[in-house]
Amino acid sequence: MTDDTLIFTDLSAATMAEGDVAYGLIEDAAIAVQDGAISWVGPQAHLPATYHALPRTSLNGRLVTPGLVDCHTHIVHGGNRATEFEMRLKGASYEEVARAGGGIVSTVSATRSASQADMVASALPRLDALLAEGVSVVEIKSGYGLDIETELRMLRAARALATERNVRVVTSFLGAHAVPAEYAGQAEAYIDTVCIPALRAAHAEGLVDAVDGFCEGIAFTPSQIARVFDVAQTLDLPVKLHTEQLSNLGGAKLAASYGALSADHIEYLDDAGVAAMAKAGTVAVVLPGAFYTLRETQVPPLDALRTHQVPIALATDCNPGSSPLTSLLLSMNMACTLFRMTPEEALAGVTRNAARALGLRDCGTIAPDTRADLAVWDVNHPAELSYRIGFNPLFSRIVKGVPCPR
Ligand SMILES: [Zn+2]
Repeated sequence: MTDDTLIFTDLSAATMAEGDVAYGLIEDAAIAVQDGAISWVGPQAHLPATYHALPRTSLNGRLVTPGLVDCHTHIVHGGNRATEFEMRLKGASYEEVARAGGGIVSTVSATRSASQADMVASALPRLDALLAEGVSVVEIKSGYGLDIETELRMLRAARALATERNVRVVTSFLGAHAVPAEYAGQAEAYIDTVCIPALRAAHAEGLVDAVDGFCEGIAFTPSQIARVFDVAQTLDLPVKLHTEQLSNLGGAKLAASYGALSADHIEYLDDAGVAAMAKAGTVAVVLPGAFYTLRETQVPPLDALRTHQVPIALATDCNPGSSPLTSLLLSMNMACTLFRMTPEEALAGVTRNAARALGLRDCGTIAPDTRADLAVWDVNHPAELSYRIGFNPLFSRIVKGVPCPR
């Protein structure tokens, strides 16, 4: 026992432990924390004698979950698309929006003209909104620079956010997000002269935790994505993929063949894709915010994923175009209401399975030897986290065992 051992008592713990049923709920629980990691969790009556003399912090019956993990975001970007949103609702066509400089082109040009400090400043309110709901890990992608310098600057800004706030940031290189206007019709040339060199440079600077792409008719073909993934493999970087969002090009199967951490969106995923993901241990990341914003009707194949025991995660996909959403709690509610996920699946989707989608094994559950990143809630039952709409019952966030201000 060291002096900085902390004991939290009088709580109920949704441990989300692997293989457990019903949230792995422990009533009248206690959690011991040592050197920033959980050293013991269980019924308070069974707290080992070695802890008895140490000071305790009562949580007065509150629910404790693992700190939430938002495993798919684009929170670093320039500008926003509110005027485009308004134009479209006033009846403008996509062509008219594009002619007015809207669409991804507007985000790319706003991002290119932003300094690293600008990017950090504009991302902070989005990050703060996530943290206010108990998030302790955020994945952040590049992908709005689409030139070497801006892709690197986005990743540097993402990493810098972790020095501004008490949060763990995981970065994904998403150079294969879209073909920029200056390479229109030349996706292959873009991959060769921008995307792959940017990936190598970002990796050399230690800025890449995983390599992502967008496999879709409006983005890149499976064979173009494979060329980027081949480079990722030689750099020993894990991959993940935006795929099967609007059509089925077999991207999930391709990603699984590279042992991908996750395949994301996957509304149009077919049985072969599900089976390939199950075999590779690839996590399915569903993104109900984009589904909602785009008013999609094709729901991800939840039953097939359950049958094949593919772990399901969910995330905000916070981005300026298709999911300007900074609430993981609302994502949980949307996943339940729109996709018919259960509240237990939704909570696993933003804790244990989200951690897995990032390749992290030391968070996402409340278990010995994991980081003591916890969320404390003013609720009686974990289903309340998915049930309410636009309500935040967070009492406090605990990061590495230390309660921190919202
Ligand atoms: Zn995305």
